[in-house]
Amino acid sequence: MRWLTIMGALALGSATPVPEAPTPFLLQPAAVFDGIDGRVHAGWQVLVRGDRIVAVGPGLSVPVGTRVIDLAGATLMPGMIEGHGHLFLHPYDEAKWDDQVLHEPLALRTARAVANARATLRAGFTSERDLGTEGAGYADVGLKEAIDRGIVDGPRLSVATRAIVALGAYGPKGFEPGVIIPQGAEEVSGPEEMTAAVRRQIAAGADWVKLYADYRWRPSEPSRPTLSLDEIRAAVVAAHDAGRPVAVHASTPEGMRRAVEAGVDTIEHGYGGTQAIFATMAAKGVALCPTLAAVDATARYGGWKGSEPAPAAVRASRDSFRLALAAGVPICMGGDVGVFAHGTNAREMDLMAAAGMTPTQVLIAATSGNARWMRLGNHVGAVKPGLLADLVAVAGDPTTDLAALRAIRLIMRNGAVIAMAE
Ligand SMILES: [Zn+2]
Repeated sequence: MRWLTIMGALALGSATPVPEAPTPFLLQPAAVFDGIDGRVHAGWQVLVRGDRIVAVGPGLSVPVGTRVIDLAGATLMPGMIEGHGHLFLHPYDEAKWDDQVLHEPLALRTARAVANARATLRAGFTSERDLGTEGAGYADVGLKEAIDRGIVDGPRLSVATRAIVALGAYGPKGFEPGVIIPQGAEEVSGPEEMTAAVRRQIAAGADWVKLYADYRWRPSEPSRPTLSLDEIRAAVVAAHDAGRPVAVHASTPEGMRRAVEAGVDTIEHGYGGTQAIFATMAAKGVALCPTLAAVDATARYGGWKGSEPAPAAVRASRDSFRLALAAGVPICMGGDVGVFAHGTNAREMDLMAAAGMTPTQVLIAATSGNARWMRLGNHVGAVKPGLLADLVAVAGDPTTDLAALRAIRLIMRNGAVIAMAE
């Protein structure tokens, strides 16, 4: 009986039509930046078949029928990865955050997120970690699925759904206290409610759990710790049990200290980080998303024209970034895009370079670096055989001038050509 079953399966297998093998692509740029070794390899080629990179190097032998894509003068590099974005937000000089959360219909926000995802991919960002819909519920889960199914264009997404805040600590705020105002994240009080919220969000599709460890309790007061150490610990236990990492918004030293002690995976912003906290983060391998561009954009919305000395908040963000760099903290490339326009994600990369990283370090952070701490290193973030063919070609050499990232010649995601400039 068992034998017959196996024979049946074999017969069925041989009757199944063999799918036509996809046409291989040979990409011929001036050079390849593989996202790992920091070098620009002149004369290298990349062979892509199906959704994968199959060979990288000079003088590749290629199968008959290979389509050659000539990228003379261009550097081919891994598709970039946005480490901290909000596709359901748009720049605050277009509409205040409160108004986006309270007045924009969910369908409008979702339609805008589709356009934002497209703009992101077209800027060469083939993956993105989206750290909360800010009042748009679980719509990120549906957007991710629409991208995965090829219904709309966008980066491959890791999503956080609603995010989690301490009861009463988030926003919109400043209304008549007797009126219940919808919030930009899910509120919890106590470790039990935290555990329940983490589980609810993971069940709904969260790839990451996002917490706010500090915030302004009342409008226009400074940030103070919000979640207790026990609450953050409860989130980490529930999330890690489910195989999901934890990202924490923290800008005060105490909020950061609690988050790091609780065992979280990334700290977002970290503007108030001290040498001691960054040393602990480096020792534990906790990555920092410095979100320099969010501070820069917010200062400009407030009237700053970019002259030095910069406003205090901008200087604080640069100082903490430099402290983190010096301490050896893994640096995420994540700008908090959404505060500023989707598709201008490279703005964060310019600011990282201006604050002390070399262009090569910035490029590694935005590719294999982000892939590593996002646990995607076996799939994306490098030009390496076996990895998914998420590739970008830019005119010129981005390791000498990041401005090359604005001159995109080719975008490939999953081995499919998304856009190509002649
Ligand atoms: Zn954010």
